Amino acid sequence: MKRGFRPKWVIKIGKERIDILFKLADSEFSQHPERSNRYVKLARNISTKYNIPLSSKWKRRVCKGCYKFLKPGSNCKIRVTNGSVHYKCLECGHVTNVPYKKEKKEKRRKKIESYIIQKRINE
Ligand SMILES: [Zn+2]
Repeated sequence: MKRGFRPKWVIKIGKERIDILFKLADSEFSQHPERSNRYVKLARNISTKYNIPLSSKWKRRVCKGCYKFLKPGSNCKIRVTNGSVHYKCLECGHVTNVPYKKEKKEKRRKKIESYIIQKRINE
C-alpha cells in the first residue's frame, strides 16, 4: 500500500477498532488500570497511523499530558466554570479545557429565532 493512501474500508475498520478498544478500556479500568492504559495506547496508535481523529466522546477520556485513560470519579476531576469544562487528570495534574461557548451562543440564537417565528405567526 502506498504511504498516506487510505481507502474507505481502512478508515471504517480503524474507527471500529478504536471504539472496541475504548469500550474495553472503560470496562477493564476498575480491575486492571494498566490494561486500560495499554488499550488507549493501541487506539492512539491506530488513530495516528491511519490519520483517524478520535471521536469527541473518547477524546475527553484521555489525558493529553500522560495519555492515560480517565475515569471521572476515580482518576479524573470535572469542573464546570463559566463557558468551559475543566478535566483534571489526577495522575499528572494536567488540565484539559473544553469550551462550550459555541453551544451557549447557538442555544441563544435558536431561542431568538423561535421567538421571531412566533411573533410572525401572531401577526
Ligand atoms: Zn495525565
